[in-house]
Amino acid sequence: MQIVFAAAEAAPYAKVGGLADVAGSLPQALAALGHDVTLYLPLHRTIDRAKFQITDRAPFRSVPYGKSRVRVAYPSVVRDGVRVVFVRNDQRLGRNRVYGEPDDAKRYAFFCRAVFEDLRDSPPDIVHAHDWHAALLVPLVARARALAATSTVFTIHNLAYQGRTAASVLALIGLPRARLPIEDRTEANPMARAIVSADIVSTVSERYAKEILTDEFGERLQGVLRERRRRLFGIVNGIDTVAFDPATDRRIAARYGADDPGGKALCKEALQKEGGLAVDPRAPVFGVVGRLVEQKGIDLLTAAAPKLLDSGGQLVVLGTGDPAYEAMWKALAARSGGKLWLTLGFDAGLAQRIYAGSDLFLMPSRFEPCGLGQLISFRYGTIPVVHEVGGLAETVRDVDRDGARGNGFSFAEYATVAFDDAIARAMRAYRTSTEAWSELVRRAMREDHSWGASAKRYVDLYKTASRVRKAA
Ligand code: ADP
Repeated sequence: MQIVFAAAEAAPYAKVGGLADVAGSLPQALAALGHDVTLYLPLHRTIDRAKFQITDRAPFRSVPYGKSRVRVAYPSVVRDGVRVVFVRNDQRLGRNRVYGEPDDAKRYAFFCRAVFEDLRDSPPDIVHAHDWHAALLVPLVARARALAATSTVFTIHNLAYQGRTAASVLALIGLPRARLPIEDRTEANPMARAIVSADIVSTVSERYAKEILTDEFGERLQGVLRERRRRLFGIVNGIDTVAFDPATDRRIAARYGADDPGGKALCKEALQKEGGLAVDPRAPVFGVVGRLVEQKGIDLLTAAAPKLLDSGGQLVVLGTGDPAYEAMWKALAARSGGKLWLTLGFDAGLAQRIYAGSDLFLMPSRFEPCGLGQLISFRYGTIPVVHEVGGLAETVRDVDRDGARGNGFSFAEYATVAFDDAIARAMRAYRTSTEAWSELVRRAMREDHSWGASAKRYVDLYKTASRVRKAA
């Protein structure tokens, strides 16, 4: 099959969160299954053109935008069997941040139109658009006669971000304004528009696919999603097991694996030294890597931190996000007596050193479509402590409940006492038996979260999408 991906971010070119991990590794897994995959990304200003050999000489097109036409270049590279096309227009698309600029809505609408223009000459079998940034590509394709044989798949990586904007944006890229019932008079909701017009809608775990039909997790789109429930599927994310491999990772202090776990202790020692923590092999080190936003359960984390530190734990936190939460963490670190090492920023290398050097990884998210932190943690032999929600509930099994099948610790009710209890149980397990703990670590490292199975499920989904399109 000829498959086209469109996304705002993809590792290693541009990464903010889990979407980049998926868009940077699922295409390769599909290519390895014999499919022809092209990934479209906006050429953000932050993408290192020299490093990735993105040249200035490239084919270009004149893309209609409002009443004018805009010249767009399409430089491309091939990496691991996947063609990556960077959509380039410095004025309309080149920004220093992937998200958070005042013109995000227009910028990504223009990105969709520019991708659409590039598809018309040789229509692919499948257009697979990811999250709201690529969402308007779905109705563009669905309406185009020239692309009548192309099926569309839309994947929701996070329903909370819908790209709601002024309805006038639609006209700029040639889409009709006809309002959806959930849109108010002057508004366009790109994510909702993709949900109603895609042949198939998917999300990144089976559990989240069910949760988003409810009032609690539906983010006002539960009604729209319920109408499409027969076309809505959940496929759990995999991770790039080559990029995330403690046996070969050069960014960490020592190499190790399930059969040879010794290097993990060296990684822990190196992390404690780097963070100015007491170098103590018996102190449980808890890691946190993630966006410091409400979704990630920062309120529970900040509430639980003092007790965790008082009970002899150490905490290493890496993240950026909400300024109010950043300030709270700074205050906590200042009062922690050197037991909490806080780094505010985005640092892929440090993230790896934390995954490798920690004993446990905290992820008490309020909601979590899939979550990759817990999967990367497994790979590095670091045991997750998570809220039983979304992809976390699907991938983490509590040791105290599931015994020898357990791979982490979890709590059901979103409450500080429940999180405290899970942390206390984890600490107890860590301290009670070195042997049992080592066995748990080895078991976590042996879990298979590579793309293999999930990539095959996407192929099945594409086949279903083709059938749906044909029938239509
Ligand atoms: P989300 O996509 O909601 O941010 P995920 O758990 O799905 O959360 O994916 C987050 C990804 O981004 C993981 O690969 C994580 O390691 C990485 N990440 C998040 N914050 C940082 C940071 N501050 N520095 C480096 N990597 C980060």
